[in-house]
Amino acid sequence: MARINGARLMSDLRELAGIGAFQTGVDRVAFSEPDIAARRWLVEKLRHAGLDAAMDRVGNVLGRDPAAAKTVLIGSHTDTVPKGGWLDGALGVGYALEIARSALEANERHAVGIDVISFQDEEGTFMPFLGSRSFFADVDDKEIAVAKSKDGAALTAALQTVASAPPPHRFDGQRQVCYLEAHIEQGPRMEAAGQRIGVVSALVGIRRYRILSHGAANHAGTTPMAMRRDAGSALIELAAAINGEFRRLADPDTVWNIGNMIFRPGAANVVPSACEMLLEFRDIKAEVLDRFEERFMALAAIANRGGVGIEVESTARIPPTAMADNLSAAIAASAVAHGETPVHLPSGAGHDAMVVARFMPAAMMFIPSIGGISHNVAENTSDADIVFGCDVLADAVAQVRREVV
Ligand SMILES: [Zn+2]
Repeated sequence: MARINGARLMSDLRELAGIGAFQTGVDRVAFSEPDIAARRWLVEKLRHAGLDAAMDRVGNVLGRDPAAAKTVLIGSHTDTVPKGGWLDGALGVGYALEIARSALEANERHAVGIDVISFQDEEGTFMPFLGSRSFFADVDDKEIAVAKSKDGAALTAALQTVASAPPPHRFDGQRQVCYLEAHIEQGPRMEAAGQRIGVVSALVGIRRYRILSHGAANHAGTTPMAMRRDAGSALIELAAAINGEFRRLADPDTVWNIGNMIFRPGAANVVPSACEMLLEFRDIKAEVLDRFEERFMALAAIANRGGVGIEVESTARIPPTAMADNLSAAIAASAVAHGETPVHLPSGAGHDAMVVARFMPAAMMFIPSIGGISHNVAENTSDADIVFGCDVLADAVAQVRREVV
């Protein structure tokens, strides 16, 4: 079995959590001073471990196994949301560092080595998956030129902070043969079921909509109910119908959310003239997403009457991402070899693996999140579960390295 150093892993993860520490969590948004410091820290650690490592001018850190012509790529991201948790993507980067380092120390002769990556801006401060998309040359200058943070900061200005770094690292299809990423679950399912290793079956597809209704503002005291063109009630009724119908149509893992509703002009004594509602739903099967969309559009068409006009705008359409069966099987087999029956579950959140899987075989492993909390300073996982997860991933990587030759 591959031997990793659990104490060293924990000490590295704690050291990394000290960069941009905020209360019990971390504030390390992409391109902030602590984010870049964390990336430089990783470069040093990788070099010390014997890899050829550098941060590129997007902020991606790549550590290359100097002796290998073919490699398994492992990693995740070290940027966080504002006031985020200490594990999130840092866990997967910590695992990759420890697994690559212990493999080099063991000095086993494998035809296939290990490359380590930490992608930039997974959390989408400026552009979701900027780093992984850059790695696969999947982002163009025009997109970069217009990308802005929620606060209006330009990505181009952020990129200036790393402008002196070498040109972007690029995926080498002759070299990197597959990708493995570990992450905390960020949900409550594994902990609730007492499961320690999750094999991600697929990353969910997401569809988002903005729904606008148009009616007429009028005095809410003097306009009879039957004579109103009430844009607010129309969307309230639509929302209730959506909840009812979606419950009936859902698969076990389907989730949906009405994330916002705004009434205009927004006063107790004025019939709303306009209303806006945000809807999203997620599932691992495109058929389920299609079914939801078809039903939702039919309900919106029904609501589009009685003097109220309804407009539906699609704002995001992300297809589900399948994981590579042989890689998922290697993770599962490693869990079993360590005495743990793995659980197969979808990822309800997006990850870099979603981008990576479009270009090379990819798989993901989850470890439990205490209380299911993430993107929050309270995010945590027990040390025992963290080290166990690294052991399991290390053996999965070892198996993949033997098999992909
Ligand atoms: Zn993450």
